[in-house]
Amino acid sequence: MKFISLGSGSSGNCYYINTANTGIIIDLGLGIRTFKKLYKDYGLSLAEIQGILVTHNHTDHTKAIGPLSNEFHIPVYTTEAVHEGMMKNIYLSKKVHPSEKRIICHYETFEIGAFRITAFPVPHDSHGNNGYIIEAEGKTLVLITDIGHVTEEIKQAISKAEHLIVESNYDLAMLESGKYPNHLKRRIKGPYGHISNTETAELLAENLNKERIKNIWLCHLSEENNTPELARSTTKAALTEKGFNLNTQLSLISLPRRTPYGIIEV
Ligand SMILES: [Zn+2]
Ligand SMILES: [Zn+2]
Repeated sequence: MKFISLGSGSSGNCYYINTANTGIIIDLGLGIRTFKKLYKDYGLSLAEIQGILVTHNHTDHTKAIGPLSNEFHIPVYTTEAVHEGMMKNIYLSKKVHPSEKRIICHYETFEIGAFRITAFPVPHDSHGNNGYIIEAEGKTLVLITDIGHVTEEIKQAISKAEHLIVESNYDLAMLESGKYPNHLKRRIKGPYGHISNTETAELLAENLNKERIKNIWLCHLSEENNTPELARSTTKAALTEKGFNLNTQLSLISLPRRTPYGIIEV
C-alpha cells in the first residue's frame, strides 16, 4: 500500500492511497488545478482513482471534490449528512453529480477495489463526520482528523492502527497567547473543534497497540498555533514514556501543510 499526503491543514487537505490496482483519494480541499499538478508530478494516473472518501463538509476538505468527480466520473463515498452538507455548501460551486453519490453508514464496511473501508463517527462542528479504517493487502490504515474531543469510537480505531494519520492541531499555549479572536479560540478548543498536541499525545500513548503500530503521520497542524517540531516532540515524549521505541519500531512524522509528502510504501 502506498500513501501520499498532497496537503494537510486549513489551506487544504488531501490524501492518496493505493494498492497495485486501486487508488483512492481521501478529502480534496486543494484547488483542482493544484491537485492535478501535484498528482501529475508523482507520475500518477487520474484514471486509476476509483473513489473519493470524504471526512466532513468543511471546504478545506471538499473544495475540488465536485470538479474531480464530475470530470473523471469518480464515485464519492460519504454519509448522507455530508452529501447534504456539500450540496448546501455555498463555497462549493460545482456539486457532485447525483449518479456519483455513494451513501455510506458508520460501521457498515464497504469495498472500493482492493480496499475494505469502515467509517466511524467523530465529533466536530459539521454533520455526519467520519473517521476511516482502511484495510488492504493485510494492512490497516486509520485516518482521524478534525475532532473536537476523544471518544470511545476513536480510541477503538486507534488501537487497530498499523498506519495512522491523526490530527495534532494546536499547541495550547500558542493558541491562548496567539492573535486569533476569542470566539475562534473557543471554537478550536471546544468539544467540536480540534484537538491539541497534548490531547493527541495522550490519545496515542494510551490507545496505540505497541506491537501493531508502524507509522504515525500527524496531520492538520495549525499554521498560527503550532509547529511541526512541537507537534512531533509532544507526541514523541508521551510515546517514549510509555515504552514505544521510536528509533526502530515506529516512524513519527508531522505532515507538511502546503507541500506533498510521499510516496511512502507501507
Ligand atoms: Zn479541516
Ligand atoms: Zn473541519
